[in-house]
Amino acid sequence: MQKLYVVVYHYVRDLKYSRYPNIKGLDVRLFKEQIAFFKENFNAVTMEDVLDYYDRGTPLPDKALLLTFDDAFIDHYTVVFPVLQENHMQGTFFIPGQVYAECKMPDMNKIHFIIEKAPVSDIYNEVLRRIDDLISNHECELPSREELLEKYAFDKRFDKKETVFVKQMLQTVLPEDIRHRITAELFDRYVGVDERIFGAELYMTPDQVRFMKRSGMFIGLHGYGHYRLNSLSPEKLKEDMDAAFSAMSDVIDPKNPVMNYPYGSYNEASAEYLRKIGCRASFTVEPRIADLDVDDRMLLPRLDCNDFPPKSEHYLEV
Ligand SMILES: [Zn+2]
Repeated sequence: MQKLYVVVYHYVRDLKYSRYPNIKGLDVRLFKEQIAFFKENFNAVTMEDVLDYYDRGTPLPDKALLLTFDDAFIDHYTVVFPVLQENHMQGTFFIPGQVYAECKMPDMNKIHFIIEKAPVSDIYNEVLRRIDDLISNHECELPSREELLEKYAFDKRFDKKETVFVKQMLQTVLPEDIRHRITAELFDRYVGVDERIFGAELYMTPDQVRFMKRSGMFIGLHGYGHYRLNSLSPEKLKEDMDAAFSAMSDVIDPKNPVMNYPYGSYNEASAEYLRKIGCRASFTVEPRIADLDVDDRMLLPRLDCNDFPPKSEHYLEV
C-alpha cells in the first residue's frame, strides 16, 4: 500500500479585500495556516517523487502529500508560489492550454464571476427563461424544462442545486455555441468588464508560469478548452489534447506529461486515450486518499483543501 494525499486548490486570495469577495476560494490567511498544518503533520512530496515510485518503486514517506493548483489563476503566482518556496514545498499547477496560449477565459471561470455578482436565483431563473425560449423557438433539440430540472438540479458537496443546474447547463448540456453565447451575455451584463482585460488580471502570464517551472514547480496539462472530456467525441478529444500538448510544450515535462481532467470529468474512453498518448498520470476530484498500488494512475483521486484544517477535519473520515 502506498498512500498519497493529493490536495486540490483553486482560488487562493485575500478574499475580504478583493473586488470579488464572494468568489469561492480559500483565504490567504487560511492557506498559510493550512501549509503550516501540513508541514507539521504531513510529508510534502514532488510529482517527480510520485513518478519515481511508479518507475523504480522508490517508496514515498509516511503521510505523503502532493499539492495541486488548478486553472492558472494569478493567485497561484502572487500568493501560493512564495509560500511554497518559503516552505520548500512543490506545487503542481494544472493549466488549461487556452489560458496559457491565448489568455482566453474558459466559460467556467466566467460563470464563477457571474454567480459572484448576482444572486444565484436570478441567474437560475434567467437560464430557465433562456431554455424555454430555445425550446419554443425550436433553436435546438432539448429535453423539456421538467426533464432537465429532474436530471440536473440537485445539491452537491460544495454547491446548491440552483448553482449546480446553472453550471451544468452552461458548461455541458446546452449546445456549445448557444451556451457560449449565453455565458458571454450574462458575463457582460453582471460583471461588465471586457473579458480580455478581465482575463489578463485573472490568470498567470506565460512568463510567470515559466519562472515557476524554473524554480522547481511542476506544470501539468488541463486540456485546452477546459471541456468535460467525457462529453467529447473521439475526434474532439484528440483535437483538444493535441492543442493542449502543443500549447504547453515549453513548460510541461515532455517525457512525463501529467494531466488533470477539467471538472474531474472522465470516462473510460478519455482515460484510455490519455494512457495511449503517453500521459504518466491523471487526476480526478474523487475525494479520497490515493493508493498508488491500487488506483489506476489515470484516475488518481484528490481531496479538496476544504477537507483539511483549518477548514475541516474531513480528511480523517475518507
Ligand atoms: Zn479546471
